[in-house]
Amino acid sequence: MRIADRIVEIRSAVQRARGNGSTVGLVPTMGALHAGHASLIERAAAVDDFVVVSVFVNPTQFGPAEDFDAYPRRLQEDASIAAEHGAHLVFAPTVEEMYPPGASTFVEVEGLTANLCGAVRPGHFRGVTTVVGKLFNIVAPDRAYFGEKDYQQMLVISKMVRDMHMPVEVVACPTVRETDGLAMSSRNAYLTAEQRAAAPAIRRGLLAGERVVKQGGSASEAVQTAIAQIATEPILKVQYVEAVDPETLTRPDHNGAPMLLAAAVFAGDTRLIDNIVVEG
Ligand code: AMP
Repeated sequence: MRIADRIVEIRSAVQRARGNGSTVGLVPTMGALHAGHASLIERAAAVDDFVVVSVFVNPTQFGPAEDFDAYPRRLQEDASIAAEHGAHLVFAPTVEEMYPPGASTFVEVEGLTANLCGAVRPGHFRGVTTVVGKLFNIVAPDRAYFGEKDYQQMLVISKMVRDMHMPVEVVACPTVRETDGLAMSSRNAYLTAEQRAAAPAIRRGLLAGERVVKQGGSASEAVQTAIAQIATEPILKVQYVEAVDPETLTRPDHNGAPMLLAAAVFAGDTRLIDNIVVEG
């Protein structure tokens, strides 16, 4: 598997592929690839002829007290996983390649970034949309594949594409889970055995919230139920559980409307997120 670290290499590889009539799919990641990433790569390979996986731990989406330095980096292993699941090229640029000295241009989506993770991670989505915008300019993919695990991110990127007239189709892919329900995440590697054993309570909480809604309960009853279920594992600390409209991420306007139940929970210093869409 070829690993390119320069923008010029990617551009010429993509141009060659396009010259042969190939469509191009992009799977943006921060590496430490797991089965969740693999499912995105497989989906891309099933649809597009030439699949680029980017591996870039993007400094501008981390807050000053967050885990940018500690974030797992294992490029060679990532490249093998990417190849195994059908990728044709890995793009793993340096920070300097992505942010030329003096870079001062950012992409920011307003509104959708005000709630949920946007409210507790100031500047996070500005970093995400800026780097994904750069990747779209570099790779010029027909389609880009994102996981629903990061639901707000997927929505924010779809909005950016629409607002900025970017010629890319955003493809949303379902969350891949461990057998006990925990959403796969590169950050699960940080968990101690005790934290790992407690973590599936997040999914159980969201499922309990979903049951409340399906039985006619309100959004706030669903949230309270989810929080109570997660609290059965005292090692977990809820940062937020919220019930919002799945398109606007604001308060659902009536009982029975579709609803996104989203949670962010700390296990020690490790922040885990998950969500579930409850159909109306
Ligand atoms: P990350 O490397 O965590 O930035 O994630 C890269 C892409 O993989 C994003 O689109 C994520 O939403 C997606 N992803 C991460 N974990 C999962 C998962 N468990 N299931 C499906 N997609 C995922």
